[in-house]
Amino acid sequence: MLYFRCPRTVVLQVVVRFGSLIMTGTTTSINYNIYLKMKELILSIILVTISQVSSIAQDGSVQIRGKEVFKNEDVVFHQIDEHTWVGTGHMMYNESLYLLEGKDKALLIDAGTTIKDLDKIVTSITKKPIMLVATHVHPDHTGSAIDYFPELYINPADTPSIPLFMPNYRGEVKNLKDGEIIDLGGRKLEVVFTPAHTPGSLTLIDKKACYGFSGDSFGSGTLILGLDFSSLIATCRKMGSIMEKYGIKFLYPGHYDGKNEETKQRVDDLITLSKDVLSGKAKGEPNQWGGLDVSANGVRINYSEKSIK
Ligand SMILES: [Zn+2]
Repeated sequence: MLYFRCPRTVVLQVVVRFGSLIMTGTTTSINYNIYLKMKELILSIILVTISQVSSIAQDGSVQIRGKEVFKNEDVVFHQIDEHTWVGTGHMMYNESLYLLEGKDKALLIDAGTTIKDLDKIVTSITKKPIMLVATHVHPDHTGSAIDYFPELYINPADTPSIPLFMPNYRGEVKNLKDGEIIDLGGRKLEVVFTPAHTPGSLTLIDKKACYGFSGDSFGSGTLILGLDFSSLIATCRKMGSIMEKYGIKFLYPGHYDGKNEETKQRVDDLITLSKDVLSGKAKGEPNQWGGLDVSANGVRINYSEKSIK
């Protein structure tokens, strides 16, 4: 478990730190050579990590309930309920993708790291036309399989990361709006922007089913904070009130192991921990990757000094 978790943490810490560098405008011509060098470095780290991690079979601790409907070397799909499936990859800490079906169309939430023929796999599960949404633009959610889809919907705040993480995407990137409703026919998903992990992280809420899909917005175990603690507190407050108002029981995370659903309690615990870091009550321990880790009540945040504001 430990050696399985570590590679994802390494990759994502580098990814998040570099992502925020780009956000702060470091891709000017003056810094372009540094940008290219860092990009090269990050991509090589990702590739090395993927090659190391992929030699490890599906994490033994992942136990998704529900009928197995598809399995190959890249992904396993389980049926969560009548019209919902979760796909589990094994490249970056069991990265998860979700397939939801309505009467008229289907929604694919995220595309994993590398899943060959993902379009054919999902159309073997549902016959409805498929719309692809990314919870955020990180390579374990917008991997090579996005190329099978002509359109990809995102929160536009992640657009600056597109040249780094999905430079070869040939389709059209379309922008979602905060509060927008995606109507699949008899099944509606509300788009809720939940920035903190990345500027353009989003969560999709199915009010009727009383659950949602949060990508890495609330941690999937460890929250890797790309923005600052004030943004995280605001996002958690926003989501907490939505969960309370609509009776949302839990959120399926972007790295689902069968038991790490995000609950309102966990969202509240992230607020408490964030406030404690800001007040100085809680102090992060340096980790070996140059970041800081802080945890309490089972929630854990990985952050950098500049996030303390
Ligand atoms: Zn991520």
